[in-house]
Amino acid sequence: MLPLIYHPIYSKLALPPEHRYPITKYRHLFEHLHASLATKDINRLQFHQPSAISLEQVKALHHSDYIDALVNNQLPAAKMRRIGFPWSEQLITRTLTSAGGTCLTTELAHQHGIAIHLSGGYHHAHHDFGSGFCLINDLALAAQHALTLEGIDKVLIIDCDVHHGDGTATILAEHDDIVTFSVHCDKNFPARKPDSNIDLALPRETTTEDYLAAFQPIFQLALAQHQPDIVIYDAGVDIHQDDELGYFNICLDGLYQRDHFVLNSCQQQSIPVAAVVGGGYRKDHQALAPLHSQLIQAALDLV
Ligand SMILES: [Zn+2]
Repeated sequence: MLPLIYHPIYSKLALPPEHRYPITKYRHLFEHLHASLATKDINRLQFHQPSAISLEQVKALHHSDYIDALVNNQLPAAKMRRIGFPWSEQLITRTLTSAGGTCLTTELAHQHGIAIHLSGGYHHAHHDFGSGFCLINDLALAAQHALTLEGIDKVLIIDCDVHHGDGTATILAEHDDIVTFSVHCDKNFPARKPDSNIDLALPRETTTEDYLAAFQPIFQLALAQHQPDIVIYDAGVDIHQDDELGYFNICLDGLYQRDHFVLNSCQQQSIPVAAVVGGGYRKDHQALAPLHSQLIQAALDLV
């Protein structure tokens, strides 16, 4: 069985027309899986609906003044602009539910080996401010949550979204039991890229072949050196050649190969993987579904 974590609220957010965030992609991915997978594969999926993370849990990593202002719509306009969403109750509920989803994904990965969240990857959220469509950092919060699970003393966050995981790097800079690893495009948002524990910056127009050749040995080395008890994997598809916010030249099969490599490498060493779908930007939200579904296909080929 492959646990998939999903909530219909992920795609329920009223945004201004032409807003860049592909809010309906989560629903499209959920529907695409049902429409495209063979019945025998659909029967191997086990859907779980998460609950919202508690504010107390969020405040363990984020500044409580920031969180209070955020949930009560008291952030200055400039701080909301940096986040990039208009404030709404819906936005807050969706955000807290998605972070709860990534935490649940770590629990289910711990039990089953691989679990996938059909949301998550809000890596630009910092300790006391949000940015780039990220309000709170679900990856950091889930890593912290994972450390409360039996037998988990070391977490590796591998962030393969095309954008640098700046918020994750800063929030977790002092956490020795959580290792952060970002693979990203060297000339892309965010302009300032604070150090993760491991950073692999690749140039614009990186091809599938060059991407895998650079990433694979460093990932293997990271596993060997840090020996994590669980891996949290941000499988952003904005590395794809047609992405509107990414500058890499990675093909569809390259996404599958990357995802399969990460999941397989961990499985070979009996390390559970909690994966999130991460970034992926197209005006045609539906076109993102087959890209994100590579992760689910790679997992189905291993479980
Ligand atoms: Zn991204």
